[in-house]
Amino acid sequence: MGVHGIHHVTAIAGEARENLAFYTRVLGMRLVKRSVNQDDPGTYHLFYADGAGHPGTDLTFFPWRNVKPGRKGWGLTTEVELSIPVGTLDFWFDRLSSHSLDARRSERFGAGALEFRDPHGLELALVEGDGWPEFEPWSEGPVEADAQVRGIHGVRFWQHDPGESGAFLEDVLGFAAAGSDGEWQRWDVDGGGPGRTVAMRAAPDAPRGVWGRGGVHHVAFRVSDDAHQQAVRRAVEVAGRSPTEVIDRFWFRSVYFPEPGGVLFELATDGPGFSVDEDPAHLGESLILPPWLEPYRARIQAALPALEPVPGRQSPVSNAEAAEPQIPAEG
Ligand code: ZN
Repeated sequence: MGVHGIHHVTAIAGEARENLAFYTRVLGMRLVKRSVNQDDPGTYHLFYADGAGHPGTDLTFFPWRNVKPGRKGWGLTTEVELSIPVGTLDFWFDRLSSHSLDARRSERFGAGALEFRDPHGLELALVEGDGWPEFEPWSEGPVEADAQVRGIHGVRFWQHDPGESGAFLEDVLGFAAAGSDGEWQRWDVDGGGPGRTVAMRAAPDAPRGVWGRGGVHHVAFRVSDDAHQQAVRRAVEVAGRSPTEVIDRFWFRSVYFPEPGGVLFELATDGPGFSVDEDPAHLGESLILPPWLEPYRARIQAALPALEPVPGRQSPVSNAEAAEPQIPAEG
């Protein structure tokens, strides 16, 4: 019994307001949850997804204003692929260009792609593909529904030994090898397609990757429910990968472990979902805290940087100079 594709990807950003502006106003994803890092409540945890926050659509960030840039290398996710509908590549090229983003057209495994970086250095690719599993457009977003980002298409890793990591994907998580394109090898789960694919390339001479601004923290894979999570967790444990106990993230439950190449993986349940503690019409509008942090809400809120854009400014990446409080070094 394997996983059902990618649940979410979590990355490290710089200034929170720039991150929010880029993902909501340029890429047109919806902020579906505004919370804090549960291990470091002086830092936001921001979740961007489709209009309904479906599992698989979700790219999340810890924005740390003063964090050092990450180092690209083996054992880290080096790129996040976002799924866009077939036929929208030209629209997206023009849109990114109009926001002064330097996007490069490419092709991967036969699909059209645009490669670029977000304002804090995270490597992204928009990849055309049909067959996205579940999607609800964000009706208030700046991008027409038929061109909106569907969700996470896939992720790419550099590995010392893609064979060892590939065997783990196949034997424990239920993936199947799905061929190669140049130096990249691909693995698919549940028949492949958007949201169900990962790619790796051998990088024996590269340094070990290091977490930092513009880097990916972890990749979460979908499990249907608690029983499914326990079954896959046991398989991970038998494979010697030392999974954590189940941690309640309120919108889903999580288990973490490093795969053999060192990339941090998570198993996340599809439910209960982002509307468990907020009206679906108002997702992401207010700060949601875990119960044990509620008594400290006023202090936490006062220490977090302002998120809302300065009124009257249209450019998504021009707010960097706006004053904001320093993020306290907690946890
Ligand atoms: Zn996660």
